[in-house]
Amino acid sequence: MKVLVFIDQAEGHVKKSSYEALSYGANVATLVGGEAVGVILGEVKDDLTSLGKYGVKTIHQVQSSSLNNVDAQVYAKTIADAVSAVGASIVVFSHNQTGKAVAARVAARLKAGLVAGAVALPKVSNGFTVKKSVFSGKAFANVSITSALKVISLNPNSFNIQLVEGTATVQPLAIEVTASKVTVKAVNKVTGEIPLTEADIVVSGGRGLKGPENWGIILDLAKTLGAATACSRPVGDAHWRPHHEHVGQTGVQVAPNLYIAVGISGAIQHLAGVNRSKVIVVINKDPEAPFFKAADYGIVGDCFEILPKLTESIKRLQAKG
Ligand SMILES: Cc1cc2nc3c(=O)[nH]c(=O)nc-3n(C[C@H](O)[C@H](O)[C@H](O)COP(=O)(O)OP(=O)(O)OC[C@H]3O[C@@H](n4cnc5c(N)ncnc54)[C@H](O)[C@@H]3O)c2cc1C
Repeated sequence: MKVLVFIDQAEGHVKKSSYEALSYGANVATLVGGEAVGVILGEVKDDLTSLGKYGVKTIHQVQSSSLNNVDAQVYAKTIADAVSAVGASIVVFSHNQTGKAVAARVAARLKAGLVAGAVALPKVSNGFTVKKSVFSGKAFANVSITSALKVISLNPNSFNIQLVEGTATVQPLAIEVTASKVTVKAVNKVTGEIPLTEADIVVSGGRGLKGPENWGIILDLAKTLGAATACSRPVGDAHWRPHHEHVGQTGVQVAPNLYIAVGISGAIQHLAGVNRSKVIVVINKDPEAPFFKAADYGIVGDCFEILPKLTESIKRLQAKG
């Protein structure tokens, strides 16, 4: 039985979330007594053979420049064709932006059962049941897939990558790529920033910062840590920060290793976008702020005093090596 893992890339570089998906797919393959293989679309600059350390021996590449940018419809058709060409029974995506747009389309094309937002390996002793997060991470559901073909998208940061020895072989996959039905006229990219959804560390500010003129302390901490910056929705709505930084139920959903929330109360709609972070640090002057209940570490105090000291301490530590 083959497990096909979709490897997401941007500008020729494999996205971090794909490593987790590959390792997850390799473990699914072990569970079902099969083999995990990868599929990547478009032209790639990275050395794909090194992805063998995530547990896949073969990576199929559909190397067409028309696949360099994600078009969900074209990607879905190409991946569905790859599933047939490779003879896979289980398809794994990361539940990132691409995965959210493509996995359901692939499932529809293949008439496969889909679990979107899986958080654990499937249970295969009696059927095929996958645990997924529901209600913005407030609860879990165990979903059985009964179809022969199965599609799973894995919530980022919910599976511990397991490294193995070995390299992968890259094999070109000849699949006819259909023309896109849309034309991208222009792409206005935010440059010089770490993309929020890919960041390991996110420093996020809320209304407690009082105004855009005070954002220097957030930016300093973020720069020191090599972190991306984010904000609560009212901060985006008030144009203190650009809208693409707004995280939460109605904004970007993030799952970094470390999320530092500064002057953010922790409303349920905010938590919905950040509660998959591995470690949450909350800095708030109100000890009753709801965010502390979701925090791994909390500092009660004035962010205008704490943040500069925190940044200085980190810089001192970094200087010591
Ligand atoms: C349908 C719907 C969808 C929504 N979607 C989102 C969403 O996606 N994302 C989102 O963020 N919100 C969302 N909201 C809004 C959400 O309900 C909250 O209103 C919002 O998250 C509050 O933002 P905040 O924590 O920055 O501000 P506030 O609630 O005003 O909290 C500010 C916090 O800063 C603290 N503070 C003040 N001064 C300091 C200081 N000097 N030092 C340290 N701490 C200080 C205060 O104690 C307080 O806890 C949504 C609401 C609705 C109704």
